[in-house]
Amino acid sequence: MIVTITMNPSIDVSYQLDSLKIDSINRVAKTSKTAGGKGLNVTRVLKQIGADVTASGLMGGFLGEQIKKELNTLNVKHAFSPINDEIRNCIAILHEGKQTEILESGPVISLQEGNQFLKHFEQLIQQASVVSFSGSLPLGLPKNFYAEMIKICNSKNKDVLLDCSGEGLKRILNGSEKPLLIKPNIEELSSVLGRKIMNDLAAIKAALMSPLFSDIEWIVVSMGSQGAVAKHKDTFYKVVIPKVEVKNPVGSGDATVAGLAFGLSEGKSDEEILKIGNALGILNAQEAMTGYVDMTKFEKTMDQIEVLTF
Ligand code: ADP
Repeated sequence: MIVTITMNPSIDVSYQLDSLKIDSINRVAKTSKTAGGKGLNVTRVLKQIGADVTASGLMGGFLGEQIKKELNTLNVKHAFSPINDEIRNCIAILHEGKQTEILESGPVISLQEGNQFLKHFEQLIQQASVVSFSGSLPLGLPKNFYAEMIKICNSKNKDVLLDCSGEGLKRILNGSEKPLLIKPNIEELSSVLGRKIMNDLAAIKAALMSPLFSDIEWIVVSMGSQGAVAKHKDTFYKVVIPKVEVKNPVGSGDATVAGLAFGLSEGKSDEEILKIGNALGILNAQEAMTGYVDMTKFEKTMDQIEVLTF
């Protein structure tokens, strides 16, 4: 089983307007409201590829119930730890070719809720082979909370994938509890190293040899339409992907994480793991809906991806 972790879930609301009127009333006909948070995107894609997946993390309030309902409709197993407060709304207003976002910071988690989650988590992962963490930590939790969770996984020999950015990722890279795999994009790689990494093989290879990454077995640097570069132990891979017609690449990184988690849980070869991850990223980019992949195109897309060592 693969367990996905979303510590700061949201309802993602999207409003489409011809124009946004400030200090006035805006009536919206086109709306969409979906379960959000990167971990839930990973979950949806895992479900579509037929993986045995359980979604977990923190969930609370009326909106939390809505998310659980949506997961039930999709037949996705879930085991969240409850919190008292309402989870957040993240609102995107699409208008005049622009996107205005209103992002709630979300609930503040109490120490007791954090401890209750850790107990729940330790139990839940007993049956898991792979645990995938995505996104930021909510307010209130100690900054080393992911490190605590990784420590629990490492003590039980569970493979951990970590997809977070900024301070959260820096903390883990500088700490002692390491995940098996991280998936930064080029901007995130530049941010943790504190310098701009150019989009070329030699520069990325040099960056991945930084001591900051020395204890992490797998690093997959995703590069949008340029595919990916990866390091597994001492082997470097370049993933060459086909040109496709893109509808909405938001969530492609999450789809890639789903594929990497699936490949690892199935004990696939390095080449297969990278191919599955990229194929799902590509398929997500070809759809308007985030976290959706058209599996009828999966085999063909897999055949169009090349994994080379360098
Ligand atoms: P993130 O969303 O984390 O920034 P990326 O944008 O790098 O991640 O996307 C992850 C993967 O999805 C890429 O490595 C690639 O395989 C695929 N992908 C993303 N954007 C595109 C695109 N425009 N065209 C084709 N494939 C894409």
